[in-house]
Amino acid sequence: MKLGFIGLGNMGAPMARNLLKAGHDLVVFDVVQGNVDALVQHGQDRATAAATPAAVLAGGVDAVITMLPAAQHVKSVYLGNDGLLSANVKGVVLIDSSTIDPMSAREVAKVAGDKGALMLDAPVSGGTGGAEAGTLTFMVGGEEPIFNQMKPLLQAMGKNIVYCGGAGNGQVAKVANNMLLGISMIGTAEAMALGVSLGMDPKVLAGIINTSSGRCWSSDTYNPYPGVLENVPSSRGYTGGFGSDLMLKDLGLATEAAKLSKQPVPLGSLAQQIYQTFSMQGHGGLDFSAIIKMFTKK
Ligand code: NAD
Repeated sequence: MKLGFIGLGNMGAPMARNLLKAGHDLVVFDVVQGNVDALVQHGQDRATAAATPAAVLAGGVDAVITMLPAAQHVKSVYLGNDGLLSANVKGVVLIDSSTIDPMSAREVAKVAGDKGALMLDAPVSGGTGGAEAGTLTFMVGGEEPIFNQMKPLLQAMGKNIVYCGGAGNGQVAKVANNMLLGISMIGTAEAMALGVSLGMDPKVLAGIINTSSGRCWSSDTYNPYPGVLENVPSSRGYTGGFGSDLMLKDLGLATEAAKLSKQPVPLGSLAQQIYQTFSMQGHGGLDFSAIIKMFTKK
């Protein structure tokens, strides 16, 4: 296929490289020229640069994938002057893989649908490692026939491609999962810190939790206590992984969506406030498991 790709950052660049690897041709755009140059150079004659989002569509593409930081960037790329929806998008599939709030996703999908485009929201989990390896999970909202049509394309970038329902539902799945992840990481950190402060060896405690009813992904795969697991951020100074500020962003999306739908999320709100405090203390760049620092002496 001939594809557009907009947003060639930490996630977008490796995803675009996997599309080239699968044999697709790309027309790319990013506001950072260096990101565009690197991808065009990587793709040699199969990747070309466009000057604006609308220009990505100029030579005729089957689908466009966007991978942008937040809702404001998505709205500008789709709805702005020179945005994708200022061009002729009839019959083009537009796939937004950015993590944004479900309401904004539905707003953009409505305008896209009115212009004759076919839109999917398809946020991902799996991080930059999953983007490199082509093993991301895609949570997809939109019309099911379009999902079925695009599934093989998404499989060039991901391993689990899951249909979640109508427009915005991919984002709903993403924010619900990440809210639970934030809550469970804080809970695991609290429990580990309590046990160690009362005299338990952290590895023995983690072993008990992981074969008992407290077990969760944060305890058995990504334990926040240093030295319990190898090859996780807690054992390398909380570097790499999923930044606390990104977790804070996702908790903000969850609590905002909850507010708009009048749905109580007391633990999600508390988790958001705890990560906000942690970020204010200057730790936003550390992996999100570093939240255990809130409960330990050093
Ligand atoms: P990033 O900041 O590295 O990349 C975003 C890219 O978008 C940058 O290259 C930036 O220049 C470009 N951009 C910004 N505004 C633009 C505009 N108006 N037009 C064109 N390009 C523009 O971010 P990322 O880490 O690649 O994350 C992208 C999205 O994926 C975010 O919504 C994030 O929450 C989500 N996500 C990230 C991870 C992760 O581990 N990094 C994991 C899952 C989901």
